Amino acid sequence: MTDLQKRLIAAAQRVEKTMNEQPFTCLYPGCSELPIRSHSQQEGGSLKTIQREGKVYTIRRRMETTFVDLSKSSDCLPPVCLTPISRATTFSGFCNRHDTDLFSCLENVPHLIPGNMEQVVALYRRSIAFAVANRRFNLNQMLGMAQELPEIKDNPALKGTIINWGIMLKYDMAYTFQPSFDSDAAERFEFIWRVIPRNIGISCASGIPPLDDEAGDKLVGELIDYSTGMMKAPRPIISFNVVPENDRTHVVLIWDKQFLPYVNDVRASASSFDKDVIELFFNDALLNRSEDFTMSPDLWEGLSDSVRNTIRELIIPEHMREKVEVPRLVSLDDIGPVVNTPLTA
Ligand SMILES: [Zn+2]
Repeated sequence: MTDLQKRLIAAAQRVEKTMNEQPFTCLYPGCSELPIRSHSQQEGGSLKTIQREGKVYTIRRRMETTFVDLSKSSDCLPPVCLTPISRATTFSGFCNRHDTDLFSCLENVPHLIPGNMEQVVALYRRSIAFAVANRRFNLNQMLGMAQELPEIKDNPALKGTIINWGIMLKYDMAYTFQPSFDSDAAERFEFIWRVIPRNIGISCASGIPPLDDEAGDKLVGELIDYSTGMMKAPRPIISFNVVPENDRTHVVLIWDKQFLPYVNDVRASASSFDKDVIELFFNDALLNRSEDFTMSPDLWEGLSDSVRNTIRELIIPEHMREKVEVPRLVSLDDIGPVVNTPLTA
């Protein structure tokens, strides 16, 4: 291990310790209780249907262990690790009361029901909560690392990221997350809900950008006004949920109607019956655009090294790597009809 790697790991340990000692508050608007470790993917539901001996494969999230893994790894790709389902997909989200109240319509039912609006709103809240909680966590982690390691403090890329993320977090919270708690929340959303008639061994609950990275970066660049630290409009995001049950898998995309100008391509692809179109869209959303996926050990361990490495490479943001072709990990010749809200556009 190099000296720099040792110092990164030590700094990450100190930052994570500080963050554990000064935890965030519950994400429910106005609540000041401490959050429990919320699951973005249900431990006793979707994760249970894809686990083996209580474990699934997930993207490594803790910075300290990531640095340790990277220092041991020869390829420097993001680690995907076997993780107990009690710890997989957890985030510092809601207090015990709000976590229970908000998600009982997903947790205490035998099946999801395509088109059920209460479940649509709950899936949206949970996936976007996961996205904003991770942004909040990562931003604080980065601020901590900048303080711990003076030599990186003035790095322009790091400074730029901290400024961008700070502005985006504020707007994501105010314009895409908190409105989902308004009394008319259900009327804000459109969704596409499809069912694959088998358990595909994958679970996901995340926010995905409706635009590809290049168009998305350009748009976000245009939205942020650095002279004022404000955005002209909130950053478009779509809630992307893949929820496996024993004999089926729900695929649910949900967006706020304020993002209608940006969702046409996603809407067309996600509701397509052309196997090629839907397969390309689904695998790209899952492996390239989502910040999160969980896989059954049988599926992940059955992949070739080369496919596993491609999937790990896709976790790296597009502007920081070569262009990579997304593997057709999931074949979708049997996806069911489209259930959706009446289109307003
Ligand atoms: Zn709360």
